[in-house]
Amino acid sequence: MAFEGLSDRLQNTIQKIRGKGKVSESDVKEMMREVRLALLEADVNFKVVKDFVKKVSERSVGQEVMKSLTPGQQVIKVVKEELTNLMGGEQSQIAVSKRPPTVIMMVGLQGAGKTTTTGKLANLLRKKYNRNPLLVAADIYRPAAIKQLETLGKQLNMPVFSLGDQVSPVEIAKQALEKAKEDHNDYVLIDTAGRLHIDGELMNELKEIKELSNPDEIFLVVDAMTGQDAVNVADSFNEQLGITGVVLTKLDGDTRGGAALSIRAVTEKPIKFVGMGEKLDALEAFHPERMASRILGMGDMLSLIEKAQANVDEEKAKELEQKLRTMNFTFDDFLDQLGQVRKMGPLDELLKMMPGANKIKGMGNLQIDEKQISHVEAIIQSMTKKEKVNPEIINAGRKKRIAKGSGTSVQEVNRLLKQFEEMKKMMKQMTGMQQKGKRKGFKF
Ligand code: GDP
Repeated sequence: MAFEGLSDRLQNTIQKIRGKGKVSESDVKEMMREVRLALLEADVNFKVVKDFVKKVSERSVGQEVMKSLTPGQQVIKVVKEELTNLMGGEQSQIAVSKRPPTVIMMVGLQGAGKTTTTGKLANLLRKKYNRNPLLVAADIYRPAAIKQLETLGKQLNMPVFSLGDQVSPVEIAKQALEKAKEDHNDYVLIDTAGRLHIDGELMNELKEIKELSNPDEIFLVVDAMTGQDAVNVADSFNEQLGITGVVLTKLDGDTRGGAALSIRAVTEKPIKFVGMGEKLDALEAFHPERMASRILGMGDMLSLIEKAQANVDEEKAKELEQKLRTMNFTFDDFLDQLGQVRKMGPLDELLKMMPGANKIKGMGNLQIDEKQISHVEAIIQSMTKKEKVNPEIINAGRKKRIAKGSGTSVQEVNRLLKQFEEMKKMMKQMTGMQQKGKRKGFKF
């Protein structure tokens, strides 16, 4: 997962200072030495590290900490605030042109994830903002880039404008804009030509497209896993072309985090989105504060709640509540719940957003849990309708049949039945409490 190494080291460091009733200058010094090492090890730009450590040190030995009642906590607060500032403070928005279509140029080197991100961004614009984008295939140099974008368009059921690889990217962009106006597309995402390295020819071409299309945003797509190389690429593109924001891809595989922590400080341009996987919905808005919280092990409940809201069907939630109240909760509902949770994404990713989750032992073995969930699903699916509603009737013979049908064992079936019973008992208690609470006027 992203930032794993840095997160571990920083958390160990702040753990030492957390409970301190008094924080001396030498405590701060010692802590900063470790923070510095942790950041350098995470491949954060050395100048950025120097500035960061300086700022945190100054604030930590200042009034705000020393005079506070909980100096240990206060130092951590300073670290978190500065980490947030480092990544850009307030979250930045995506432009909306007053005269549509809004034009977004996607730029970057080959392999960074530019084409994939173009598809992801189009998906996000439609899903979250109800927009109607046109995708433009102007990367005529990477073999298969045009085909790839066309495939993405098909998957998303979105229009893709292409003129093959024999027409210049500038001409493609020009005709695409006309087409978007004709078809009333409110966003135009231009997947521009990538190269293996930055060269004059590439920059000239991009500048021409920029001049012609007058883009509202120029998003540079860089691969987080390339660390400081990504920072250097961002710096060059920004100097030569002027970018408006960065999309950091493959953060899901970046255990160090150097690029994420350095890009803003070096280029003064914000990271707007992060790629968290290969799938089309794996693009997230970048929230510096939430990221800082995650790095410091304080969890990211806001993202978790947003995920839940985006995926949980409200009607279903109400129905479930009713069932819980009347104790009509069956294995079918249980299966439904599992489905809802799974829609939110891989369990290990979800758990990592919870405060303190990284301290739970065996987090690395969560893959196994996913497998267990599939077993649970298979077991429930192998039950008859009657059994799902009245699990009491499941005798030894039925257990054997269910185990066979689901490719599991009788022990696993037993375990699930027991868990289900316990869950029901717990719910009974909870709904009981809720009723009592209601009478006394508590809100839950
Ligand atoms: P382009 O040459 O810049 O257009 O790169 P592509 O869009 O073809 O992406 C290169 C590879 O990176 C593909 O295999 C993508 O699936 C993969 N990729 C892109 N974004 C992400 C991401 O956020 N996470 C992961 N794990 N893979 C990604």
